[in-house]
Amino acid sequence: MEQKKHYSGLTDAQVLKSQEEYGSNLLTPPVKTPLWKLFIEKFADPIVRILLIAALLSLGISFIHNEYAETIGIFCAIFLATGVSFWFEMDANKKFDILNQVNDDIMIKVYRNGNITEVPRKDIVVGDIVLLETGEEVPADGELLEALSLQIDESCLTGELMIDKTTNPDDFDKDATYPSNWVMRGTKVLDGHGIMEVKQVGDQTQYGQVAQKSTEINEEETPLNVQLNGLAQFIGVIGFALAILTFSALFIKDLIQNPISLGQLGLLGAAILGLIIALSKVWIPILYDAFDLAGKKKSIPASVSKKGWFTWFIYGMIVFIVCCAIGYPFGVNALQTDAWISIETANRVLQYFMIAVTLIVVAVPEGLPMSVTLSLALSMRRMLQTNNLVRKMHACETMGATTVICTDKTGTLTQNQMQVHQTNFYGLTASQSLDDSEESNLIKEGIAVNSTAFLDYTDPQKVKSLGNPTEAALLLWLHKNNIEYTLLRENASVIEQLTFTTERKYMATLVHSPLLKEKILYVKGAPEIVLSKCREIKTFEGYQPINEYRKQIEKQLLDYQNQAMRTLGFAYKIIEDTSNASIQELVESGLTFLGIVAISDPVRTDVPDAVAECLNAGIDVKIVTGDTPGTAKEIARQIGTWKPEDNEENIITGIDFEALPDDVAFERVKKLKVMCRARPTDKQRLVQLLQQGGAIVAVTGDGTNDAPALNHAHVGLSMGSGTSVAKEASDITLLDDSFKSIATAVMWGRSLYQNIQRFLLFQLTINVVALIIVFLGSLLGHELPLTVTQMLWVNLIMDTFAAGALASLPPNKDVMKDKPRRNNDFIITRAMRSNILFVGISFVILLLGLLFIFPTDVNGNISRYDLSCFFTIFVMLQFWNLFNAKAFATGKSAFNGLTHDGGFLSVALIILIGQILIVSFGGDVFRTEPISLKDWGIIIGGTSIVLWIGEIIRLIKRK
Ligand code: ATP
Repeated sequence: MEQKKHYSGLTDAQVLKSQEEYGSNLLTPPVKTPLWKLFIEKFADPIVRILLIAALLSLGISFIHNEYAETIGIFCAIFLATGVSFWFEMDANKKFDILNQVNDDIMIKVYRNGNITEVPRKDIVVGDIVLLETGEEVPADGELLEALSLQIDESCLTGELMIDKTTNPDDFDKDATYPSNWVMRGTKVLDGHGIMEVKQVGDQTQYGQVAQKSTEINEEETPLNVQLNGLAQFIGVIGFALAILTFSALFIKDLIQNPISLGQLGLLGAAILGLIIALSKVWIPILYDAFDLAGKKKSIPASVSKKGWFTWFIYGMIVFIVCCAIGYPFGVNALQTDAWISIETANRVLQYFMIAVTLIVVAVPEGLPMSVTLSLALSMRRMLQTNNLVRKMHACETMGATTVICTDKTGTLTQNQMQVHQTNFYGLTASQSLDDSEESNLIKEGIAVNSTAFLDYTDPQKVKSLGNPTEAALLLWLHKNNIEYTLLRENASVIEQLTFTTERKYMATLVHSPLLKEKILYVKGAPEIVLSKCREIKTFEGYQPINEYRKQIEKQLLDYQNQAMRTLGFAYKIIEDTSNASIQELVESGLTFLGIVAISDPVRTDVPDAVAECLNAGIDVKIVTGDTPGTAKEIARQIGTWKPEDNEENIITGIDFEALPDDVAFERVKKLKVMCRARPTDKQRLVQLLQQGGAIVAVTGDGTNDAPALNHAHVGLSMGSGTSVAKEASDITLLDDSFKSIATAVMWGRSLYQNIQRFLLFQLTINVVALIIVFLGSLLGHELPLTVTQMLWVNLIMDTFAAGALASLPPNKDVMKDKPRRNNDFIITRAMRSNILFVGISFVILLLGLLFIFPTDVNGNISRYDLSCFFTIFVMLQFWNLFNAKAFATGKSAFNGLTHDGGFLSVALIILIGQILIVSFGGDVFRTEPISLKDWGIIIGGTSIVLWIGEIIRLIKRK
């Protein structure tokens, strides 16, 4: 980059014109699958399919009897349940789209109206002059106007991890996929910087044409999901086993009551065997689930999983026909109608079959994955309002299990509003004022040229800093001294540059200086590093050996550091025009020290409280910073992690840490509160050692080099102001960079986990009750305690409504009073287990008791009125238990904050109104009869005892 050019960029009018002509920089999302298709997909669930087939068969029988009510009811119930859960899921998925919107709002540095300013990525237009810096993502396709050591990661387009880009035609790579002076949207700047002119935006970019990454849905399975899938498998197997038992019990009971001939039994057996074979695709996977649970993991034979439904249907038919043929010699002619059981018996058998299938529908917790998705989606959306952009779903819940947070200092703990507090340039007078002297020129030009930051002058009253905050603070200092960096920078021509990195801890630029008419090397960086490269110092009285001043400088530095200030050292060297040594060699060739600068960056006011909250929640907070021990320790003291009794054991520098052998470092990290002068590799080792000790680690990072640590940690938190490489490697982006948002994320994570626990508590209690009641009820009584339609309504309540109500409960601050859970803890705690069993068994005893108490007619049948009351009591018991589930683990009354839980209250109301409507108007569809007002009162009031007992227990526990 020999010759610097002056850019003014587009004017506002030109931007509008370009937008009209070439469009905006938004990618058109891919065509979405139509809603009806997604709805049909819901019926892919084999159990729902069987239920539908059974309902169709029952419809056939209804034609014969001319009684359609119950069959139609079953159809409605299936469509309603599927529809409601479909709607909830759609809604949850829509909320994930936020992620893409935020990506389009990333700020891009661009020349506009003669200024450098920032605009959202979506507002970039053709013709814009964009500044590219290390770690950033290229916002559109374009041609490079300038490039300085520019290296690009093109892996998202070409698979190339590192490509050199240049504007010098002699260095062009002719074999490269894209021209060497072009950069493409979606690729990332690995090193150096450059300036590009945008040539293509939005869908016209290469990225827009080949990739649709920006609309990818995050479908990663979270650890919690894995745990819940195991649980769902377990419940499924139990439900299936009970369904078989219930069917057999009902069938045998029927045979005893209505005997049939041996021939009829044989044919029925043949039909059932055929059916079992035809439905292999349903029960074989469940059988293998059972093997899996018993610890004998086997994979399903390919012959089962590969063959389609139709093939198995044909097999079933063949077996059925063969069996019928075998019966023929024994006098059973399957072609004669009277060889078969009567239509009435067939109807009853079909009913039993449907009950068995419905039991499985009730048992299988379809709502479980949905409740997790819903909780995660809601958390993601609400966390965004508290400045946490969740990029990977699992992060929401893992944050809740975090035991250690390793945090950066600048920006996260401090305000990132860096200001030069004091300068000590030894060549200037005591007032440190700048003039046209050689010393002043070296300082001015050094700050302006040896820098990658910019100032945005759009609002002259409020000049904004862009880019590296330390460097921007220096530019602002120049601005305050009425010196504009732009002219100085544009006039000087840069020969070579080493940008600042945390590993190097200094920055160096070699320039042709028009001000001093010399070739000059400017260096600035961590004072001890710069000092170590200096031989002499330029003072007011001339050049002096550095050693004579070293003590004085170090004392001054310590003084600033003890006030939590960031310190910088400055040096320079005049280089012979004939020299062709590399910039690295020049830096090591003995520099002249110019002075030091102290930069203040106060602690954010809300951080001490947020840190205290984390410490109370049993979470360790460790500062990892590139700053000096003095500065870091003082910040730690101000935020409340460093206590007077702490000593050298609690702080370590990156270099000392690297020197420790693994076993010693393993012990040391436990006590560590501050790691200073840290490099990204130290951060990564710290994370790994902590993880080896069983900690769940969340780590923050903003630089490209932080990516490995962010990847390694359980939760990587990147900064909104950080590089896009860091953001991509992270799980959550803190949009406001603040530690306060980390504490909020922990609270969200813990609340989310608790909401899922509440849902499980509620769901499993109903499961236990429904399965036992239907099973025992059909064994003991004459009438079925609950009909298929009634069970489907119960299923809708617990799987869909309850999932919605409990998953959307707002976060609870009290979760921060507990210690963190262990990540591999089973989600059903001992307290939950006892609760489910105790409440479930009490309900079963009560309901079975009722079945015995209800008077029966001469045939032993209970009246429809009493059965309607029974059904209502069953539902109302669950209704009140929903309130107990809501209050679970809060230690507070279920009425606490009820008025704020709009979602919860509406669901409770829907259940109540739905039940009243079903009982009053359900008729034959639901086997119900209107209940008197008095009985409604008795049932609602009586069953509410469930809530009152819960309230009393909570009250006692609180005491
Ligand atoms: P933090 O945890 O505060 O974010 P960090 O890890 O970002 O710290 P570094 O940026 O690595 O810290 O800074 C380490 C040291 O390098 C600083 O104390 C300062 O002396 C020096 N330094 C920081 N920024 C620059 C820069 N742009 N140019 C030269 N030196 C710098």
